[in-house]
Amino acid sequence: MHDNNKTVVVIGAGPAGLSAAYQAQKSGYHVVLMEKTGIAGGKGGSKKYKNFTVDFGPHAYHAMTKEITNLMENHSKGNLVDINIKQKLYITKKPISYPMKIKEAVLNFGIGLNIKILFDFFVSKTKSIFIKQSRNSFKQFGEANFGKTLYDLCFGKYTERVFRRSSDDISVEYARRKLPNASLWGFIVGLLTKIHSKKDRESYLHVRRYMYNKNGIGNTYQEIAKGIIDRGAEAIFNCEISNIVVSEDNKVQSVNLNLPEKKNIKCDYLISTIPIDDLVHYTDKKITDHNFNEKKISYKHVVIVNVILDKPRLSENHWIYLVNDQFYFNRLSEQKNFSMNCAPKNKTLIMLEVILDSVDKEWRWEGDQWRNKVEKELGFFNISSKEIEDIWVTRMEKAYPLFLVGYEEVKNKILNDFAKFKNIISTGRYGLFLDVNMHDAMVLGAEGFRYLVENKVEEFYKDHKMVCIWKRNQKS
Ligand SMILES: Cc1cc2nc3c(=O)[nH]c(=O)nc-3n(C[C@H](O)[C@H](O)[C@H](O)COP(=O)(O)OP(=O)(O)OC[C@H]3O[C@@H](n4cnc5c(N)ncnc54)[C@H](O)[C@@H]3O)c2cc1C
Repeated sequence: MHDNNKTVVVIGAGPAGLSAAYQAQKSGYHVVLMEKTGIAGGKGGSKKYKNFTVDFGPHAYHAMTKEITNLMENHSKGNLVDINIKQKLYITKKPISYPMKIKEAVLNFGIGLNIKILFDFFVSKTKSIFIKQSRNSFKQFGEANFGKTLYDLCFGKYTERVFRRSSDDISVEYARRKLPNASLWGFIVGLLTKIHSKKDRESYLHVRRYMYNKNGIGNTYQEIAKGIIDRGAEAIFNCEISNIVVSEDNKVQSVNLNLPEKKNIKCDYLISTIPIDDLVHYTDKKITDHNFNEKKISYKHVVIVNVILDKPRLSENHWIYLVNDQFYFNRLSEQKNFSMNCAPKNKTLIMLEVILDSVDKEWRWEGDQWRNKVEKELGFFNISSKEIEDIWVTRMEKAYPLFLVGYEEVKNKILNDFAKFKNIISTGRYGLFLDVNMHDAMVLGAEGFRYLVENKVEEFYKDHKMVCIWKRNQKS
């Protein structure tokens, strides 16, 4: 299907890489897709375990643009369906719906806490009239905009537990992305009127059309990969890259593989969707001399503890956020609620998520080593130890970019260095160090390819944060 004799090598067969490969092939390029695991889908993949379909933590697709949704639908054989997501938060010990409803929130917090929340908020606002407060960190931003009590209760302590960092170390950029409506006023106005601020509308948090492939979201990605391969692309699964060859005139020439066989793959263009530090490592630091040990650009690992329960269902919720600090895990999800096809009728699969580093002892724990923690957490939901039938883990390396204060400056410097290389682009959630979902990762894959072949690498790195918003707002 290729007609211009040029080869685009894509590293990573996750949502971003597949979308880039799809576009490259559609535009007439020969595509070589390299993937280190045995299946397509990246973190949006699905596997089989016994008679369960298991995602890397259930992944719902946010339908935000027609273009990407069409691509997903065309590769789902009619199985990509709308789902009505139900989510609960345990901020206190009683659950509260998400998105929050004002009456439910007020009743849930109780009179004493509501008064404290309002009092703290007015103290913080009054203080800000007289003293200029800096807002560089998640904590400073959160306390200034919500008051200490609401901030601690809903965001601050949870963020610290999840990332195991002081929220003073976490960048305000992350706060702007994660904190709904960005202030107590905005939050209340949003709750009462459903009118959201401009910044808020730009966030994926208010996208409410979720979809899921009835047989596991990974099936859609596998179909996209299959289509690309059937049309003539070369796909190399279970590959191990040895190095990426860069010439003196700042061009990537080829990729050397160790596995599945020693091989040199020449490329005219290279699209990388792997973490930034891995890309730099493969080029032997030729594309930037940044020292990643400085840790301003680093990623956190995730362990998903998968638990089969010998009962039909735990709850009707898709995600339950375990905000209250009595919990060890960050989030609980139930795969069956995304699609009944994913589990047998009489059993259910629960996934408990925790963010870790490789130095944490739990990172290496296998199935039954988790039993005590699982029993304690699920005990809260009235699950007895007898109902816990099987426990196993899914490890996800570098699953969350860690946005530390000052990371932006470092990231910009790295991307400026990358921009000198005109035939390579680093994109996707990990290649651009962004907190994006699958939809936006796919936009970044497709757009990354377009900017690359239009010789606009530098512009891509300048535009990358806006690209998804522009696409969302584009009338089609
Ligand atoms: C726990 C969790 C839950 C999430 N839930 C949702 C959700 O419900 N909905 C949603 O839309 N998004 C969700 N996300 C985000 C979603 O997973 C990402 O946005 C998406 O997977 C990013 O796609 P990507 O292609 O950029 O990266 P990835 O999915 O990570 O794909 C990168 C690919 O590159 C491969 N690779 C890595 N290194 C190499 C190498 N050296 N050589 C070759 N191949 C390599 C990987 O194996 C992988 O296949 C979640 C993320 C996490 C961590």
